[in-house]
Amino acid sequence: MLRSLSVTDPNLIDSLQAEGFNAMHVEVSDPNLSALLEIASKSSLPVYARIRLLERPGLGDTSPTNTLGQLVEGAECPSQPLAQDRCLELCQRVAAQYPWAGLQLMGLGFRSFEGLPTDHADASFYRSICFCAACQYGYGAAGSILEHVAREAIETARAKHPTVDTMLLWRRSVQYGLLRQIHEIVSLPLCLHTAAELRYTGDRSSLTFEEAQGLAATCSVDPESSEDLARLALLPRPMPVYSTSNLAPERFAGVIL
Ligand SMILES: [Zn+2]
Repeated sequence: MLRSLSVTDPNLIDSLQAEGFNAMHVEVSDPNLSALLEIASKSSLPVYARIRLLERPGLGDTSPTNTLGQLVEGAECPSQPLAQDRCLELCQRVAAQYPWAGLQLMGLGFRSFEGLPTDHADASFYRSICFCAACQYGYGAAGSILEHVAREAIETARAKHPTVDTMLLWRRSVQYGLLRQIHEIVSLPLCLHTAAELRYTGDRSSLTFEEAQGLAATCSVDPESSEDLARLALLPRPMPVYSTSNLAPERFAGVIL
């Protein structure tokens, strides 16, 4: 079982093994990365790189954009070719940086807007459907219907229109395509952080474990409650799945704390 700790303080590395950890994770954006890797290289523990994909400061042409014209700040839409290129460059650069045990891919998905106190249950889902130029191109002829569906459903709860399933299917194909490209250019084992839930946007429209099979060696999840953990534990898991939250996951293959 993998028992890994996310390390930000280089001074902690020496005591990891004595505390029962058999691996460590470091954020590649950590300002202390050089110092962490220098000390980690002297340790016998495997080191995993945690990469946050599709993050970019501010607003820009690749920002997720909803039907109300609102942009998600600090993020990029995974269907944008330029954003995909940046993901590939980042993974390639990180992979060459250190003899990692693997790369943990965070945020490989569509971003969502925060829910509002006045929202009905599904409003934030519809508010988060991306209509950036690349997504609109991907929706094709269904795009104008979907836009109408999204605008109405933001205001009032209603039965799900079939174009929503089409959109979700297309989005998973985008995520799968990006994961496949990363798999092709990086020879290290990949760990896909996923919510393995298909209904919502944001992190919750991630690929399922089965969809990631063959491209990701492992998956990680971050269950928010014991109910969520139970739901995830019941899903088919063709690879080891790790929990990054502190809910004790007996039925999972390991724990990343
Ligand atoms: Zn988009």
